[in-house]
Amino acid sequence: MLESKLNRRFFLGAGGAVAGSIALGGLGSSAALAAESGMTPEKVLANLMAGNKRFISGKAKHPHLSRERIGDVAKGQHPLAIILSCADSRVAPELLFDQGVGDLFVNRVAGNAVDPLLLGSMEYAAEEFVPPLVMVLGHERCGAVAATQGCVRSGGTAPGHIQLVVDALTPIVGPYANDPDAVEKGVQANAKAQAAAITAQSAIFREKVEAGHMKVVSARYDLDSGKVTLLG
Ligand SMILES: [Zn+2]
Repeated sequence: MLESKLNRRFFLGAGGAVAGSIALGGLGSSAALAAESGMTPEKVLANLMAGNKRFISGKAKHPHLSRERIGDVAKGQHPLAIILSCADSRVAPELLFDQGVGDLFVNRVAGNAVDPLLLGSMEYAAEEFVPPLVMVLGHERCGAVAATQGCVRSGGTAPGHIQLVVDALTPIVGPYANDPDAVEKGVQANAKAQAAAITAQSAIFREKVEAGHMKVVSARYDLDSGKVTLLG
């Protein structure tokens, strides 16, 4: 990453021109990289869903884990997708999509919630690699959603910094707190809302999506079956 294009643009820029040169460089390279790779959002999504099918049927190929692959991606990475998923130990994107080293740029946090620091991490990948697909991946029985709804019902708070997760999720999953299917409805609403937040809060993502170079989707991982289902 030290030799990255973004860093070169940043360090080569001067004074007030730096921000402008990053923005222009990003837009220019976006079109070039998207055309160069030949990968479309649809192709990448089909690739991931095929990998998930292998995973759930016990036919995972465990691709891109050879020493040769490690050496190849050490020289430069070209991830196919940016994934925002929950930190839950059962929701590991590389495994459940049967991908390998250098395939996915994964951001994980409890409740798969977008905040400014996380969005910065995702924007870095968007500018640097222009992967055609961004996926927010929520999951069945998410503990972060359940804990948030528990706080809403009790009027209590969570200990320590966990309250920051609760605060972030409350506006989205709180309204379902007393629903008989509270957690599931909250999980689906949250994945969709976080996907919408990416383009709403980030001009970098908005420009790439509007230019047709990138697509943002939301999905749900089923803990029981291992299956990923698209939500939108
Ligand atoms: Zn979770």
